[in-house]
Amino acid sequence: MSIAKNLVEQVNLFINNQEFATGKDLEIRDPGKRSDIAGRVSIGDASHVDQAVTAAHQAFLSWRNTDVKERVQLVLQAAHIIKESAQELAPFLVREHGGMLWEANLDFYLGEHHSEFYAGVAESFLKPEQSEDERSWISSEKTAKGVIAAIVPWNMPIVLTMNKLAPALLMGNTIVVKPSPTAPLILSVLLQRIAAFFPAGVINVVHGNADVGEALTSHPLVRKVAFTGGTETGKKVMASAAKGVKNVTLELGGNDPAIILDDVNNLDEIVTNILKATYMRSGQICFAVKRVYVPESLYDKFYNIACELSDEYKVGHGLNEQSSFGPLNSEKQYNFVKELIHKAKHNGATVRELGQKVDPDGWNDGYYILPHVIRDVNPGEHVVSCEQFGPVLPIVSYKNVDQAIEMANNCELGLCSSVWSSDHERALAVARRVEAGTTFINRHTADSLKLPMLFGGVKQSGIGRELAVHETLNEYIDHHFIRTFK
Ligand code: NAD
Repeated sequence: MSIAKNLVEQVNLFINNQEFATGKDLEIRDPGKRSDIAGRVSIGDASHVDQAVTAAHQAFLSWRNTDVKERVQLVLQAAHIIKESAQELAPFLVREHGGMLWEANLDFYLGEHHSEFYAGVAESFLKPEQSEDERSWISSEKTAKGVIAAIVPWNMPIVLTMNKLAPALLMGNTIVVKPSPTAPLILSVLLQRIAAFFPAGVINVVHGNADVGEALTSHPLVRKVAFTGGTETGKKVMASAAKGVKNVTLELGGNDPAIILDDVNNLDEIVTNILKATYMRSGQICFAVKRVYVPESLYDKFYNIACELSDEYKVGHGLNEQSSFGPLNSEKQYNFVKELIHKAKHNGATVRELGQKVDPDGWNDGYYILPHVIRDVNPGEHVVSCEQFGPVLPIVSYKNVDQAIEMANNCELGLCSSVWSSDHERALAVARRVEAGTTFINRHTADSLKLPMLFGGVKQSGIGRELAVHETLNEYIDHHFIRTFK
């Protein structure tokens, strides 16, 4: 396996279309080859956040007056840049976040297409609604909010940023993006390329840890926070934004259940699909399948097929074509998943470590974990009840459908979910009882998403929806009601 040289040695803050080095750097190491440095990022503090937000606010004062048609053209240009950059940048994204090359390519592809989607609906959404009565003319207008703070995680940084940047800019807002400190490099390179086509200050990037995020969410000139990340962080973001009565959208963690009904007749195919949805991004996807509920009558068969197929998975570096999935993103996440597996075993579950190591010699140089299939596990065991974010599949048996639904809903998270059945009506009836933002029937992989849809969670999986027209764009505008008396 040959890994290309670094594309960038160093990325910096980006304010008013200028790079800004703070003098405090963080080293980014390849999660699949820790001995390799992927690059360095300049880390900011609250004073840099203030500079970025001030620049974004200055830019907003004229950007909000631009014609929406102009903004549409620029966002389409951004989509084009993402497309043109994908082949060059995707391998370097793999080196900083640890995914597979195809997953990094998918991130660029979705970033491009979601931007185009929002560009296609912005103009008609912004049209004022006008009416007249005997006494007056009425105009219901949609106005830009101001500076938007976009705080994003590391797992799909391109699309998760464009899901916020495109609607924000199209609606006439400016933006300050804070990438994750474990995947800041390629997103920064891409955003600088995109920003070059926009007026200075419309797109700004600050780097840093929680203190930088906190400075951003509490800055008085930030009018909205668009956040994707973990639920515990989301609570802090919401609390901080509340002090300034800011609008928030929160796309948070998931612990997606898959419920298998007893009428399924193609178990091999179903398990194949469920494993794809479990092991994609090494399980580090908000809507990965994280627990499966299987009727007692099918339990042994399901488990045996899951073990047999999991054993075919090969774990290795994301740039190695032999790998099925890559390492975990960070030491913290690696230790967390290892501990969950250990505890489940300790508490009496049957845990099988399966699959193969692509590069046994380099194994300990990355945060690699083989696929784990777990059975006879207590439904309340931590590996079932929390978001693992790792290549782990706990399988829980149930006696009747009511019990399966109760166990699936007995969780504070409710992002996505799936029901698997050969009887559509029956599956639909079960789906309607699942507490989740989305329920797929007979599918649960990345290709289950469709534009427009209402992507987001219930309970502690979040507030608001991305990938929709009205429900998403409405979060990036204010309403202005104007009544002129005759
Ligand atoms: P995280 O919550 O640790 O970090 C997300 C971002 O928040 C990072 O940029 C981080 O630096 C920043 N941050 C940390 N503390 C902050 C604070 N106090 N104030 C403001 N910002 C702060 O999440 P992560 O580990 O990067 O990503 C994984 C999580 O994201 C998982 O829980 C996953 O389910 C979730 N996620 C959700 C979706 C979705 O659409 N619902 C999509 C992808 C990931």
